[in-house]
Amino acid sequence: MTSAVSVREVRDYVGGVWTAPDAELERLPVHNPATGEQLADVALGGADEVAAAVEAAQRAFPAWREVPPQERARYFFKLRDLLVAHREELARLITVDMGKTLDDSRGEVQRGIDNVETACGIPSLMMGYGLEDGAAAGIDEEVVYQPLGVFAGISPFNFPFMIAFWFWPYAVACGNTFVLKPSEQDPLVQQRTFELIDEVGFPPGVINLVNGGRAAVEALLDHPLVQGVSFVGSTAVARAVYARASAAGKRVQAQGGAKNALVVMPDADLDGSLANMIGSVYGAAGQRCLAGSLLLPVGREARDASLEAIAGAARRMRVGDGLDPDVDMGPVVSAAAGERIRGAIAAGAKAGATLVLDGRDVKVPGHGGGYFVGPTVFDGVDPDMALARDEIFGPVLGVMPVASLDDAIARVNASPYGNAASIYTRDGGAAREFRYRVNAGNIGVNVGVAAPVAYFPFSGMKQSFFGVLHGQGRDAVRFYTESKVVITRWPAPTGSSGG
Ligand code: NAD
Repeated sequence: MTSAVSVREVRDYVGGVWTAPDAELERLPVHNPATGEQLADVALGGADEVAAAVEAAQRAFPAWREVPPQERARYFFKLRDLLVAHREELARLITVDMGKTLDDSRGEVQRGIDNVETACGIPSLMMGYGLEDGAAAGIDEEVVYQPLGVFAGISPFNFPFMIAFWFWPYAVACGNTFVLKPSEQDPLVQQRTFELIDEVGFPPGVINLVNGGRAAVEALLDHPLVQGVSFVGSTAVARAVYARASAAGKRVQAQGGAKNALVVMPDADLDGSLANMIGSVYGAAGQRCLAGSLLLPVGREARDASLEAIAGAARRMRVGDGLDPDVDMGPVVSAAAGERIRGAIAAGAKAGATLVLDGRDVKVPGHGGGYFVGPTVFDGVDPDMALARDEIFGPVLGVMPVASLDDAIARVNASPYGNAASIYTRDGGAAREFRYRVNAGNIGVNVGVAAPVAYFPFSGMKQSFFGVLHGQGRDAVRFYTESKVVITRWPAPTGSSGG
């Protein structure tokens, strides 16, 4: 169970060339959250680094857009094979740098690959439509989709591999060029991924990597050559990114934070669903935007049974290094995240919720330097408590009993967020009512992590999403293209017939 990683120096990849960072730039240490060991450091690029990458992407655009879509797709066939061949190495890098269990990381790698495979269908995904004799006999109309130029992608720490693949394969397959800025908290897996991208042999400048934090993001939002921005992260930053980039006339899709409810109906099969619920709440130590963090049991019996089952299973979870195959839950991403989550637990207890299981003092033998928070369960959560309202982004569940399905739906819809919501039930009518009335972008019926596969959009509503078109599949293709209508009259009018 070694955490040895090959990446020590984090570099940018610009115009098909790896560049060592400027010695003057501020640097941030990159840690293995399971041990606290420093793995590398990352230089925080700014306006100069961003300008170099955007200009390289702009230079590559005119020739890349003329490569026929089928030929563009072939680059992605090759990339897909390389990612598959290196999937285990990539998964280990995710675990070592971000903390989630190796099984979780393997799932993340597969989801990234799924998007590359979907982008291979670009000739049909990008196809327009037409109508003969549209306006009148002899006048045909068609719609074609064209790329716009340089797009930027900005991703969060919790899926350091997958989220980039919601965006750039579609953008690039459509004929655009791209600059990716991953999270500065865990930049290592993208280093290895870009080595594989380099092996594919995309023309220089088609896909570029810039490392950094806020300054790099702002430089991307402000750069006049950037046509559009795909962002995933917290709501506060998503809102600011949307405002700044859209004010500059750019296309923006900005996915934000979440507070996802799991509704347990009295008829739910608790035994059958328990593993699914536990996976939703504690997978990736609760650091998923689709994590269930509020349990809404309907009625007293569902409350007693689900609380007992979930608290029991949570108590039995093994917390430790994600590389250890016997571990159920890894650390949180950083010491600061651990402090923030412990603070939220303390505040929840102070606000009057009942702490049924307290993960604040979890100890992992041999990993004293790791950033661990154990599974935590609160009962008696009130709608006004921060535990009910705010995203904690850690392994903390609040249980808030409700009286009826109507109550549950009202509670879910009272949230300022609208990322995901799930219902557990054997009643098709209740499930239908829930999916119809709940204002959230990703709905689970007996599914605790409502993660759409790559050919469906990853949706989101209210303060979980700013924009119109989402990442993945056809929505992504529409976001990365401009539609153009071509109207043709044939035969051409002659001088005397006019028109
Ligand atoms: P974050 O908002 O702190 O950072 C996201 C990105 O924005 C990073 O690349 C970071 O460098 C950059 N950034 C940070 N602060 C910035 C600022 N002030 N100005 C400009 N850029 C800034 O998010 P995070 O902590 O990395 O990720 C966790 C958050 O992401 C959670 O809120 C989670 O719910 C959300 N998330 C949402 C989805 C979704 O699909 N809706 C998916 C995954 C994660």
